[in-house]
Amino acid sequence: MPAHDVLIIGAGLAGQRAALAAADAGATVAIMSKVHPVRSHSVAAAGGINAAINVADDWRSHAYDTVKGSDFLGDQDAIEIMCSEAPKEVMHLEHIGVTFHRNETGELDLRAFGGASMKRTAYVADITGQAILHVLYEQIMKYSDRVDRYEEWFTTSLVLDDDGACVGVVARDIRTGVMETFSAKNVILASGGAGQCFKPTTNGLICTGDGIAQAYRAGAPIMDMEMIQYHPTTLVENGFLITEGARGEGAHLLNAAGERFMEKYAPNKMELASRDVVSRAEQTEINEGRGVGPNGEGIYLDITVVPKKRTLEALREIVNIGKDFAGVDITAEPIMIRPGQHYIMGGVKTDVDGQVPGVPGLYAAGEVACVSVHGGNRLGANSLLDTLIFGRRSGEHAAARAAGLPMPAASEAQMRDDAAEIASIIARPREGRRISEIKDELGTTMNDNVAVFRDEAKLQHAHEVVRRLKEEAKTAYIDDRGTVFNQDVLGAIELGYMLDCSEATVVAAIERKESRGAQFRTDYPERNDDEWLKHIDISRNGDDTPHISYSEVTFTQWQPEERKY
Ligand SMILES: Cc1cc2nc3c(=O)[nH]c(=O)nc-3n(C[C@H](O)[C@H](O)[C@H](O)COP(=O)(O)OP(=O)(O)OC[C@H]3O[C@@H](n4cnc5c(N)ncnc54)[C@H](O)[C@@H]3O)c2cc1C
Repeated sequence: MPAHDVLIIGAGLAGQRAALAAADAGATVAIMSKVHPVRSHSVAAAGGINAAINVADDWRSHAYDTVKGSDFLGDQDAIEIMCSEAPKEVMHLEHIGVTFHRNETGELDLRAFGGASMKRTAYVADITGQAILHVLYEQIMKYSDRVDRYEEWFTTSLVLDDDGACVGVVARDIRTGVMETFSAKNVILASGGAGQCFKPTTNGLICTGDGIAQAYRAGAPIMDMEMIQYHPTTLVENGFLITEGARGEGAHLLNAAGERFMEKYAPNKMELASRDVVSRAEQTEINEGRGVGPNGEGIYLDITVVPKKRTLEALREIVNIGKDFAGVDITAEPIMIRPGQHYIMGGVKTDVDGQVPGVPGLYAAGEVACVSVHGGNRLGANSLLDTLIFGRRSGEHAAARAAGLPMPAASEAQMRDDAAEIASIIARPREGRRISEIKDELGTTMNDNVAVFRDEAKLQHAHEVVRRLKEEAKTAYIDDRGTVFNQDVLGAIELGYMLDCSEATVVAAIERKESRGAQFRTDYPERNDDEWLKHIDISRNGDDTPHISYSEVTFTQWQPEERKY
């Protein structure tokens, strides 16, 4: 049985950064990914990464902007760590080879991003995630004597010992269908977000909430699950992202009357208010009949106001996306966008070292985790930072913890259960509903009812649908009966994860009877600090229903105040 001090599930930015840190600290490390590491979703990150690098900037300003962006739900101890460690992390990336954009005087160039009080986003054109991911992967290759790689292996569940500690995982080799138990002194979940619960989404097909659901099923708490980010600029046709970098470079948002309507909603920051504010403003314009396009369901993003040379240099990917996926030359005409699902602020609850409370040996970092640096709303370009800072800290902490522990021997019972489950999915008769149909209904239901504006009736409806789909998924069938690259059966398992994540999201959204950050309840339109300035934690009851509890928000230096942009 393979055994490692630190086993990391996920090879995006959080996972790779954790692997390098754990290896540097002397641990034996392995990293597992269901896709080739450089196809991890981090590769899609476009606009950049925040750090108070400018001499006129200060990490406290970055931290305050983040706290305010979170609508005061973010935990300030974690935010202080993230923002104070950011400049060193970005310089480290530079030193290992990330070619950040530089200005005419040769210094790192910084672009404006939403909710930030000054320019503090370092970037590589609009391919920042790809640039960082490839450099980290080069480093992982360099560490090949210390970091084992299980590429195209799919983790199906976590293995706990009799005391409830995490001692390994079960995984399936996607290429052969072989199942294996892996022992580990520590497991770090770095398995990314759950955007596929929604349709459309800016997220890739692999973002199915696997780690969130696996931790939840293992008894870990998940937190802030109601906080789903709708990004203001996604293509009406298919939900593809147009990076916030476009507005950072100066692009305008226009309604059907050609008005820069953000003047009404955020007169100081205009298009660069925080994402929840801009998305709500756009949706209000659309709902009140001032949208653009044949059905009035869009808003114009006018990038023609940015000098063409600059667009071609700094936003070259979205030039291609505009042409290829909307048939629009963004240097010559406005492009139609609308708010679309983009990011999940919630996830597996952790402390500032990535440790998951109640499950010794389990860590989480990156989009799968909720250390709550984003609270009710994430600021653009803070996610890449979150992945790297808390990926590194998790790797370091897990390596130190491993030093004092004997290697556990994970029980193989879980593997037998998982293998039997997979065999039963493959054997299902081809009748009833297909897995893909259920996924489609889930995504559409979540997008129709758990989006920018929510209310009790919509949320209750979404909950009923999710519960029904959970039942239907138990007998839904797939076509592929083989073992080699059977993505069909993995899709069935992923659907189960998405249903768990969606249920937690809906239940938490019903529970939070106020409007804060990304959760806007038309039936409770005000923020209510007296009753709701707290996290909603969800854990799993024995009967597979979510159990709700609350935890305190951590405050250090900033007290809640009215949020204006
Ligand atoms: C289009 C787009 C643009 C963005 N731009 C920016 C930006 O400019 N700045 C910013 O800060 N943020 C941005 N974000 C958000 C940011 O990219 C993500 O939040 C972040 O990259 C997530 O990184 P991660 O390491 O947590 O997960 P990911 O990069 O998603 O990696 C997850 C890993 O887990 C593995 N995995 C998952 N499940 C399993 C399983 N069952 N078994 C084995 N392996 C598994 C996957 O194979 C993958 O390797 C953007 C997001 C999108 C969608």
